Amino acid sequence: MTNLSALRTFLNSPRRVVIVTHYKPDADALGSSLGLYHYLARCGHHPQVIVPSDYPAFLHWMPGNHTVLIDEPPHAQKIDEAFAAAEIIFCLDFSALNRIQNLEERVRKASAKKVLIDHHLEPEHFADFEKWNPHSASTAGLVYEMIIELGDRINLSADAATCLYAGLMTDTGGFRHSNTRREEFMIASDLVALGADPSRVAKLIYDTNTLERLRLMGYVLTEKLVVLPEYRTAYMTLSQEELKRFGSQTGDTEGFVNYGLSIKDIRLSVMIYERKDEIKLSFRSIGDFSVNELARKHFSGGGHKNAAGGSSKTSLEETLRKFLDLLPEYQSRLLTDE
Ligand code: 5GP
Ligand code: MN
Repeated sequence: MTNLSALRTFLNSPRRVVIVTHYKPDADALGSSLGLYHYLARCGHHPQVIVPSDYPAFLHWMPGNHTVLIDEPPHAQKIDEAFAAAEIIFCLDFSALNRIQNLEERVRKASAKKVLIDHHLEPEHFADFEKWNPHSASTAGLVYEMIIELGDRINLSADAATCLYAGLMTDTGGFRHSNTRREEFMIASDLVALGADPSRVAKLIYDTNTLERLRLMGYVLTEKLVVLPEYRTAYMTLSQEELKRFGSQTGDTEGFVNYGLSIKDIRLSVMIYERKDEIKLSFRSIGDFSVNELARKHFSGGGHKNAAGGSSKTSLEETLRKFLDLLPEYQSRLLTDE
């Protein structure tokens, strides 16, 4: 962590704290934020988690969830007050400010100290303190490491450990992705010692599907999954009409993109779906093929080497066409990869 001792000194007296994370928070975004929330509250600070949008129902069980403010009109005043009072702002699980949508201007303009804790590639360096490590599988793990560096393990409660464990578990795909290092197991082990229950967290995140989501998954895998062996690529698209037909809720499509990558010999998988105001792309790859590069160069996005996302302002059909037209350029790399 940069400026660790200055941060320690700053946190020596009780502070008003805002914690922000990215649009459509996933389990690592929300888990790292609420884990930090519990830690700071236990230290005597006054933390407030603020998120740019709603998030999947399978994250609502997290301890502290009821305190989170979503940036929607009914909360505007409370959010204004929290930013006005904030002495320090923690930015978690993103490193480009455009990922927090309408909160971007508030964070940019705030006079509060800023802390970035993140593991995405090519960060915007906007913070006074940084805990940034692209090799770390999760932001939750980085929050844990920061607390250990601060010498404050004693203030990690079972609730904090549970939220952090959820982020670590999901960003490693259940400790299966190539980002799972020895360190991830060491952190997980300590979080379990502190009170996280692996089986319970896994059940709450992975096995609380709605029937609608399972039916949507069945439809996507049967009708929408397309495999292009000549590019070792799989893709799926979903329109608003299809999402509505299956009664889909925020988060229902999460993880679908991984099924493309689970097919033997596939190196690149993409899920393209229509949101209300834009087209969203989710990329996954295996091996050296960098989807961060692909998303950054062509779809105003980014992320990690093997997991990235982007967006497009054209139609679903045009976005798919653009993606397909790019494949010949990447063909040799997709085929030569192990
Ligand atoms: P997902 O496909 O699960 O939405 O995202 C995969 C990874 O890429 C995550 O680490 C996520 O934070 C990042 N990501 C997703 N969408 C975007 C985007 O539009 N811009 C950037 N910079 N990163 C993204
Ligand atoms: Mn993450």
